[in-house]
Amino acid sequence: MIDYQQLTPESLAQACQDAINACDDAIAAIVATPADERTFANTFVALESAVDIVHQASGKYAFMSHVSDDDALRETARDWDERIGKYAVQLGFREDLYAAVKEFAATPEAASLAGEEARLLEFTLRDYRRNGFELPKEQREQVQALMNRLVELGTEFRKAIDTWDDAIVVPREQLAGMPDRWIDGLRRVEEDGATKYRVSLDYPEIMPFMDNADSGELRRELFLKNQNKGGEPNVKVLEEAIAVRSRIAQLLGYDSWAAYVVEKRMAKERGHVDRFLRDFGERLAPKAEADMAVLSRAKQQHAGDATLHIWDWWYETNRLLKTDYAVDDFAIAEYFPLQACLDGLFLVTQDLLGIRYEPAADAPRWHADVQAFDVFDANGGGEPLARFYMDLYPRPNKFGHAAAFTLRSGRRLPDGSYQRPVSAIVANFTKPTPEAPSLLRHTEVVTLFHEFGHILHQTLTTARFLEFSGTSTERDFVEAPSQMLEHWVWDRDVLRRFSRHHKTGEPLPDELLDAMIRAK
Ligand SMILES: [Zn+2]
Repeated sequence: MIDYQQLTPESLAQACQDAINACDDAIAAIVATPADERTFANTFVALESAVDIVHQASGKYAFMSHVSDDDALRETARDWDERIGKYAVQLGFREDLYAAVKEFAATPEAASLAGEEARLLEFTLRDYRRNGFELPKEQREQVQALMNRLVELGTEFRKAIDTWDDAIVVPREQLAGMPDRWIDGLRRVEEDGATKYRVSLDYPEIMPFMDNADSGELRRELFLKNQNKGGEPNVKVLEEAIAVRSRIAQLLGYDSWAAYVVEKRMAKERGHVDRFLRDFGERLAPKAEADMAVLSRAKQQHAGDATLHIWDWWYETNRLLKTDYAVDDFAIAEYFPLQACLDGLFLVTQDLLGIRYEPAADAPRWHADVQAFDVFDANGGGEPLARFYMDLYPRPNKFGHAAAFTLRSGRRLPDGSYQRPVSAIVANFTKPTPEAPSLLRHTEVVTLFHEFGHILHQTLTTARFLEFSGTSTERDFVEAPSQMLEHWVWDRDVLRRFSRHHKTGEPLPDELLDAMIRAK
């Protein structure tokens, strides 16, 4: 258990350093085991336990870099996130550990492994090869230095985007197209003796603005600000990262970074991906052209100009939804108060999967907005299977997108018990105002269900090893459970069960739902 209120930059740094030291000690013991005593248990299982110490420190402490509202704590957490990332990279380059793994691989026990154990051995040897262990030492060291640089660049790139704050500040009359309720939620700025409104790059502000604001000029301005998040320095970071990736791939004998990456995925070969995308593009093109023609004709009719800019796309689509399909995003949102959506999400997934959620009243929280739940087997007794957190509203310096984070992975412990997974949804949904609860646009309801798919993937894993636990699967499979959950956000019976107007309590009317489905 972690007491978030007591956490200081010093105690956070100490806890991360302690975890690294403990992992180092455990690895020293693995390395010191004589070759003729090597077993799966004292080599592979022991290594899992060692690595999990650092893994869990990352989920408890480095995670604070995404969610803490204390500047110093966030900064320290970001620093340790990078250090832990580098530490993990460096583990994969340790010659003594590689020697221990090779020693085990040569034993009769290794030859007789089956199932998950055999797969773990195979993947471990593959990853050493991918780190250059079949290359001469000098080249391997080059690969290692480049991998480290890639971690640094990744942290730098993310930080520049997360801390970027930009907005347009405009008088109320320039917000034509936006509902009063939405405008009242914006920050006010007194400028030149007049009240102005600040529309920032936070999702609940920019997205409805791009969909609804009548001013094409302002949509253009906000769109460009959003595209330039991170600024010119980040372009340099990206360019260097691309060069570093190509160099790594080249050193390891792959024709590209893409080929290197895809080897670990279900697609396996770069050619499969290229062919899939080409084929997909060809099939989509006629549909895309037809859509563009409809939007451009619509713009011609109401604005006298058929030129479709990218910052017109959401607006024209949304306008068409309202005029031709009678789908008004804000009117629909009135039927999706966040609490009703959570009730619906819980109802559907508990029913479907035979599980039950209960508020975890005693769970430590990093912010007052955060909710925690324990997951139980609906038919089983006492002990929870897992825990998840929901951190759903925007606040300054918080992670700016929607994502599911693994805070602790499920795995079989050496004593035979199962380590309970802990995960968190971090998102940025519309905040409640004094006049209205948090009302989710339908796209936000989809996002909520999607991210919860990742939570369930983490929560219900029964994998024995960290390497295969929950969402640690091939990356091109990882979205599948989430995409399945999204399906229910379009299901008539499901929507009827949980949508309720925040004032009248009425479920979403059939006409509105029909129109949404037609416009999908
Ligand atoms: Zn996803």
